[in-house]
Amino acid sequence: MADDLFNSFMNGPDEQGRFGIFGGRFVSETLMPLILSLEEEYNRAKDDPAFWAEMKDLWTHYVGRPSPLYHAERLSTELGGAKIYMKRDELNHTGAHKVNNVLGQILLARRMGKTRIIAETGAGQHGVATATVCAKFGLKCIVYMGAHDVKRQAPNVFRMRLLGAEVIPVTSGRGTLKDAMNDALRDWVTNVRDTFYCIGTAAGPHPYPAMVRDFQSIIGKEVRWQLAEQEGEGRLPDTVIAAIGGGSNAIGLFHPFLDDPSVKIIGVEAGGKGVDDRIQHCASLTGGRPGVLHGNRTYLLQDDDGQIQEGYSISAGLDYPGIGPEHSWLHESGRAEYVSITDKEALEAFQVSCRTEGIIPALEPSHALAHVMKIAPKLPSDHIIVMNMCGRGDKDVFTVAKHLGFDMSDTEEGRSFEE
Ligand SMILES: *Cc1c(COP(=O)(O)O)cnc(C)c1O
Repeated sequence: MADDLFNSFMNGPDEQGRFGIFGGRFVSETLMPLILSLEEEYNRAKDDPAFWAEMKDLWTHYVGRPSPLYHAERLSTELGGAKIYMKRDELNHTGAHKVNNVLGQILLARRMGKTRIIAETGAGQHGVATATVCAKFGLKCIVYMGAHDVKRQAPNVFRMRLLGAEVIPVTSGRGTLKDAMNDALRDWVTNVRDTFYCIGTAAGPHPYPAMVRDFQSIIGKEVRWQLAEQEGEGRLPDTVIAAIGGGSNAIGLFHPFLDDPSVKIIGVEAGGKGVDDRIQHCASLTGGRPGVLHGNRTYLLQDDDGQIQEGYSISAGLDYPGIGPEHSWLHESGRAEYVSITDKEALEAFQVSCRTEGIIPALEPSHALAHVMKIAPKLPSDHIIVMNMCGRGDKDVFTVAKHLGFDMSDTEEGRSFEE
């Protein structure tokens, strides 16, 4: 991997946690000293070559980076327009991009002498990534998960337990991701001395959104280098596209291209059953309004009284009712475009990827792919699109089977999964 990829992490811009009027640090006084010491430690680590050397070593040997940049030739031909590349982050250890960020935060926790790691998780992917890295370093791991999600995501709950983590079902509120994050914040305040809170997306109070983005921006940095050098295109992509839950894989792909005006940037939110229907989607930017949640100001799904509403998506990894604050800023400044894709369109794209490329994608990046399928046919053949294939579909085959009317209980495998 090119060494200057890593040097470019250091001495980056320090936006003080504000992205226009979004972001910030809306936390209680008791949390403030914790957040400040985290910020101080991160600023020190960010400019320390030894920190990035350790990251590079783990990214290479534990995660399997760089992930390939892959020319999806048959898909490009089938759609008959733009030249489509997939950034294969689904090939990372643990099957998605989450581990990029978890490694960074756990190394930071180690530098701070913290021995107890807490995390929130919705679908369970961030919980699994955190439990994985904690196992690797022999750290105690506690994962807060909405009671409702614990039931829906049994295989990931079992994975976390196998990896030695304690999973705490959260019954407050509606028992979903938002409530799990609240309980994790509460735990942090109570266990100040030994605990590090590892957040799973580019949200939360400053410095989390900037820090998570920095860790995930390895995705975009690799794309820049791979497309120009490795693929021999000798230039930047024309369009970059990624799916958005809280927005960490997307900002990781987008950030290294923000200052290149020729690169069009598109974020794809979960349109669920349609954005007109107020609660049957999870498109915070397309269907929400600004407010404050989990320590930052950003676009949120809320009712007329400002109460947070639960989102809905076929993809459990996309149903966070907010979005990282930097995306709210990129949306309002017009630098990035945000669109939404329905469950139905994502399911269609899921199958197209399987059939044309032999890649079973997660339902989250299937949303990004669905938008690629909409725009690619209208673009010229020298237009380069890079989409982030941010996760693999093993975890989603049962959901997809159900939606396609395939009865898994008819098969031996189906029965043993049900038991
Ligand atoms: C968690 C997850 C997402 C959503 O999180 P972001 O922070 O928006 O990236 C998307 N795709 C996959 C595969 C995930 O596991």
